[in-house]
Amino acid sequence: MCGIVGAVAQRNVVPILIEGLRRLEYRGYDSAGIAILNGAMERVRSVGRVSDLEARAREMRAIAPTGIAHTRWATHGGVSEKNAHPHFSSRDGVEVSVVHNGIIENHEALRARLLEAGYQFVSDTDTEVIAHLLHSHVASGLKLFEAMQQTVRELAGAYAIAAIHVGEPHTVVGSRRGSPLLLGVGQSNAEGSENFLASDTSALLQVTRRVAYLEDGDVVRIGTDGYAIVDRDGRPAHRPIVESQLSADSIELGQYQHYMQKEIFEQPGAIANTLEMVTNASSVSAGLFGAEAEEVFARTKHILILACGTSWHAGLVAKYWLEAIAGIPVSVEIASEYRYRDSVALPKTLVITVSQSGETADTLAALQHATTIGLRDSLSICNVPESALVRQSRLRFLTRAGPEIGVASTKAFTTQLTVLFVLTLVLARQRRRLSAAREKELLAQLRHLPAAMNHVLECEGAVRHWANRFAPKQHALFLGRGVHYPIAQEGALKLKEITYIHAEAYAAGELKHGPLALVDRDMPVVVVAPNDSLIEKLKSNLQEVRARGGELFVFADRDTLIEDQHHQPRGSRGVAVADPARGAAAAAGVSRGAGARDGCG
Ligand code: GLU
Repeated sequence: MCGIVGAVAQRNVVPILIEGLRRLEYRGYDSAGIAILNGAMERVRSVGRVSDLEARAREMRAIAPTGIAHTRWATHGGVSEKNAHPHFSSRDGVEVSVVHNGIIENHEALRARLLEAGYQFVSDTDTEVIAHLLHSHVASGLKLFEAMQQTVRELAGAYAIAAIHVGEPHTVVGSRRGSPLLLGVGQSNAEGSENFLASDTSALLQVTRRVAYLEDGDVVRIGTDGYAIVDRDGRPAHRPIVESQLSADSIELGQYQHYMQKEIFEQPGAIANTLEMVTNASSVSAGLFGAEAEEVFARTKHILILACGTSWHAGLVAKYWLEAIAGIPVSVEIASEYRYRDSVALPKTLVITVSQSGETADTLAALQHATTIGLRDSLSICNVPESALVRQSRLRFLTRAGPEIGVASTKAFTTQLTVLFVLTLVLARQRRRLSAAREKELLAQLRHLPAAMNHVLECEGAVRHWANRFAPKQHALFLGRGVHYPIAQEGALKLKEITYIHAEAYAAGELKHGPLALVDRDMPVVVVAPNDSLIEKLKSNLQEVRARGGELFVFADRDTLIEDQHHQPRGSRGVAVADPARGAAAAAGVSRGAGARDGCG
């Protein structure tokens, strides 16, 4: 799901649309386009960068007071100019144009119907059905706003849409379901006002900070005369205008090469910010999670964690903590599975959703499903205060990771883990499973976490060197035991997502039950091996890998490696990783075990 910007003003909106797209580039995209209204409807599309689109718009001398713009991440139809948005539908003097994020699930049925009605399709996208459907309603005599309301009633799937129509030159309409869209309120004077739509606040910071978050099913109209919103039932809806706190600096790249690097280095600060309320206190309190938390936690007998991707991995780690420290049974479910399966609702279950954006469609639907089957106690761990998940949950704890611009989650993951650990402490205390002395000790370790993480980040040079060895490989294995098994899973996900190298994670004890057969000198094996109670067992697994000639990349505590140099498998490359539980002394340093030619420090 990529980016949308829409604008209506009494000035040329083309630079506003292009700048908006530029600010959405961080989300990744394969093509981009804009459609504008200036007497006629004009369109520029480009397979490539927003800067190419900008150059083409300049060549065309595109100037207009009304327009919509899009960055596309193809889901239906290849990457080509004809599939890039905006899409047009033009017939009998009615011309509309549409941009869309998401997927229209019933596009085939709609396409068949529209073909029968005489519409011709010129793209392979699901989006084009929206353009023709909207056209059919405008052609039947509806105003664009009403036509959009009618159109979305017929769509199944997830979408954010913006549209324009030649017959209404100072109007842009939009709608959302399962994909974000917000309204930006710009400056106004006696001649009128300027208003905007966008899929993300950052696209509008150049023109306004005053935004209203649309809710699922909402349809919106913006014009130079103001704006109007109706809800899914067509009733006028009030969505509060809030001042966005997003800082312009926080989305600038600064000294870093790319956003993922920047965000990796922002982790200590993000964790310190997230812990602000905790680290100043001498003990943790349920109130950190909301006014009702004490009461809700007191009746909680089970926990159900619902999440997707990286957030699911955070949930898997939390299961180890919550069961071991707080003594509460926990299930962790992939939201897109849970929402569609018949499950048994255990009474007194606290449903915890974990999501960076708080708008993850599967997680939202899973929460709604849980509510429908009677699980009404919910807690959201989320990075966006105004998000749907936070609004729909009884309790919340906001991670303060700041905007996460890189495609792969980094600081959102580690701040989620931080919050889940705080939750573990709160629940353990409430259940009298945590002595005051132990609580104090664990809180001290939490306070130390940002500093420990800074030490880990000093390993960048060594890790960079490792990356060169990984680059030619086709596959990689990640291993961990206990709480570090989900961390290994997260590592494998990161490698796949960012490098397109195939990677799998295994609980190290599973190695001998099959995957060991895959290990040879072309298979790098990454091991998450801090010095915990399972380290001896893990060392045996490393020997298994070594026996098959696999190249080991081991993340371990510095002192473990130094003490146990003779255990270091030949060919392994050790990086000592700071262990927050063991203080700065355990922080990163050079490891020179047998065959480990590089490290960090
Ligand atoms: N499904 C639409 C397409 O493939 C929109 C994809 C997007 O979210 O950018 O064109």
